[in-house]
Amino acid sequence: MLPTTRMEPKKYRPYEARDIDRIPQLERLSEEDRLAMKAVASVLPFRVNNYVVEELIRWENVPDDPMYQLTFPQRDMLDPRDLDRLMDLIRSEAPPEKLRAAVGEIRKRLNPHPAGQMDLNVPTQRGEPLPGMQHKYRETVLFFPSQGQTCHAYCTYCFRWAQFVGEDDMKFASREADQLVAYLKAHPEVSNVLFTGGDPGIMRTRVLRSYIEPLLSPELEHLTSIRIGTKAPAYWPYRFLTDRDADDLLALFEEVRESGRHLALMAHFTHPRELETPAAEAAVRRIVDTGAVVRCQSPVIRHVNDDAEAWARMWRMQVALGAVPYYMFVERDTGAQNYFELSLAEAYEIFINAYRGVSGLARTVRGPSMSANPGKVVVDGITRIHGEKVFALRMLQGRNPDWVGRPFFARFDPNAVWYDDLRPAFGEREFFFEEELREFEEDKKFEILGPANLRDRRALPHRSSRRSHGTAVQRETFDPMRNSPFDY
Ligand SMILES: *Cc1c(COP(=O)(O)O)cnc(C)c1O
Repeated sequence: MLPTTRMEPKKYRPYEARDIDRIPQLERLSEEDRLAMKAVASVLPFRVNNYVVEELIRWENVPDDPMYQLTFPQRDMLDPRDLDRLMDLIRSEAPPEKLRAAVGEIRKRLNPHPAGQMDLNVPTQRGEPLPGMQHKYRETVLFFPSQGQTCHAYCTYCFRWAQFVGEDDMKFASREADQLVAYLKAHPEVSNVLFTGGDPGIMRTRVLRSYIEPLLSPELEHLTSIRIGTKAPAYWPYRFLTDRDADDLLALFEEVRESGRHLALMAHFTHPRELETPAAEAAVRRIVDTGAVVRCQSPVIRHVNDDAEAWARMWRMQVALGAVPYYMFVERDTGAQNYFELSLAEAYEIFINAYRGVSGLARTVRGPSMSANPGKVVVDGITRIHGEKVFALRMLQGRNPDWVGRPFFARFDPNAVWYDDLRPAFGEREFFFEEELREFEEDKKFEILGPANLRDRRALPHRSSRRSHGTAVQRETFDPMRNSPFDY
């Protein structure tokens, strides 16, 4: 058993769009600015909590404060015409259905379903799609517990308006857990399960336990690692300190360890500030003391962490606390992207300047990485080969494991912000994996056997084995792609 913590408890209090007039710290804004905030919050997700407001944001630096930019809606996140229209509607107290229609129309233009990968990654069991899971890379299954589809606070760049606010419905949990176990039993190639969301850290420990304990069964010997993706250490560290079930959560982490498995908390830290508070530091230390490994990842975001020194400082702090820098992501093409986006060249410069400023212990981090359709593509460098300026690229993960690690090159383009903007260098027609990628796409929705089966699948008479079940693989209440903080 871990020693109990000496932190002062804090009671979680969320603030959402309807609470904007009740956040005392916002009284410093003009009426007009608060109105603009409400307008943006009607389109983009907004939730903060008393910890974010009281301990993370430095109000004397608002509006430039990175934590404020990360969590509070900013007027420039919307097109000025859209903003004006919404502000007029709110100011004139227009009927709710009019506001709703305007919001719906604006949201649709913000590319809510980037590069429809969902249907490519949903696994099946006996011909039935399993919509709470994704299996894209051989080793790792992503699992979206239905109770973990919200967060302690929302990042403004994460575009999720169809929040499925979880309920502690134990029946639902055990049915999903059964499906996960059955899938894993049928897939010995899977060594990792990654709980993601939303934020699985939002779940009460007894709910999380009902998902995790079945995975500790000796029948699932091939499952060696359990990962939990979460921003709770950054947005609500009391989850690991003084919440009623905090000690039980840490006991659960120890149980995973005692079963002989690796437990990785994939912690989302966006800015060093999130590690500087006494609560955050104590939370990370407590988690590490259970034997879990805290691996840290975040996208690079304009106005928030577009600063090499901030990244270097964050990585150093992570190492000092016993955590492991893991990924720097490139934010993808959805939501208020114009506001947040950086070019790939800028992202690379930030990465490499930060990387050069830390010791080898922090260079476990990889990036800047794009979770694109073929795989996780990292920008390794910008260089010149036989006179042509190019991006040197590499796949860190691939739909086909054979693609991983193979260097490839795209023409340098200072304006490219995402993988889709890249064109092969040296006059090539396409990247080396594209032909095979088309084969994946042709077969999607029919024989989703996971990437591990690519070669077997080619040998199969798969055209005749296609099943005629529908192609709609959405769970009624939420769509994991929309809810995912990391844009898989
Ligand atoms: C990133 C990612 C994983 C995990 O990849 P690792 O490199 O092992 O951390 C698994 N599935 C998807 C879809 C991912 O994007």
